[in-house]
Amino acid sequence: MSAEIIDGKALAETIRARVADEAKKLGLKPGLAAVLVGDNPASQVYVRNKVKQTEEAGLLSFEHRLPDATPEADLLKLVEKLNADPSVHGILVQLPLPDHIDPDLVIRAIDPMKDVDGFHPLNVGRLGIGQDSLVPCTPQGCILLAKTVHTSLEGLDAVVLGRSNIVGKPVAQLLIQESATVTVAHSKTRDLDEVCARADLLVAAVGRAELVKRHWIKPGATVIDVGINRVAGSVPGKTKLVGDVAFADCSEVAGAITPVPGGVGPMTIACLLANTLKAACWAAGKPAPRF
Ligand code: NDP
Repeated sequence: MSAEIIDGKALAETIRARVADEAKKLGLKPGLAAVLVGDNPASQVYVRNKVKQTEEAGLLSFEHRLPDATPEADLLKLVEKLNADPSVHGILVQLPLPDHIDPDLVIRAIDPMKDVDGFHPLNVGRLGIGQDSLVPCTPQGCILLAKTVHTSLEGLDAVVLGRSNIVGKPVAQLLIQESATVTVAHSKTRDLDEVCARADLLVAAVGRAELVKRHWIKPGATVIDVGINRVAGSVPGKTKLVGDVAFADCSEVAGAITPVPGGVGPMTIACLLANTLKAACWAAGKPAPRF
């Protein structure tokens, strides 16, 4: 069997186009403020891409780059200012922050109605009890990708590999809302291969290059690979990106699978824009479109 390759780039493009379209109808320009502290190279690339795609979707983008030595109090003041700014509907503070800044304190300072990363405890709690909330972007992307294969996830045996606050746990919450039967596996799970091999839908978010092997996949299963791992490439001195799933082998068994790159990755920013649109709709007192 050769799996269907789930095209995250194409789906992300469709979502961005819809965000652009809905934003035009809204009568106000959704605004996203991105705050970057320090000069972490990966964070710089992420923020640059977020700003570029925000502008391309016709949304307002506000970029705040602060030096690495920025005191925590100054960052909190900036967040307070953005909370009060009516032209800013979404606020994202790029993680990780320098060691002297407590990320939990900063996340809690963001107005939950503008918390487009969905990390504020209020949004985490609302997601847990099934209330409408700003949902973390990568998990939301995983569900939308799975839904390109299954019109409904109801009753599927879903295994989420990884239990982090930013990926594994929210993916599991969303799958419960979709009425899947959810198992969350992690580093202490026994017989991991057997647990995964029961999954109709496997979401891998462990950050371990190609951990998931062919025999971990139930024939015909849908596999969503969140992992982004940089490993040595075939050309000496060059690296390449691989996921948490051994793609070539597993795609011979799976029914559908996301590639890395080009699967979950592009969906994260698309969902960030969708969340910014949602926050702007709330600010305008209008219903937010569903994606
Ligand atoms: P974390 O390191 O926070 O969490 C990893 C999880 O995997 C933990 O729950 C850990 O278990 C579990 N785990 C680690 N090793 C094993 C193992 N050998 N067997 C079973 N479980 C294991 O990672 P994140 O959730 O933040 O990210 C996961 C991956 O997703 C990374 O590659 C990251 O780069 C990528 N990512 C991609 C995004 C995208 O946009 N595509 C966005 C965010 C993340 P335990 O809790 O027991 O320690």
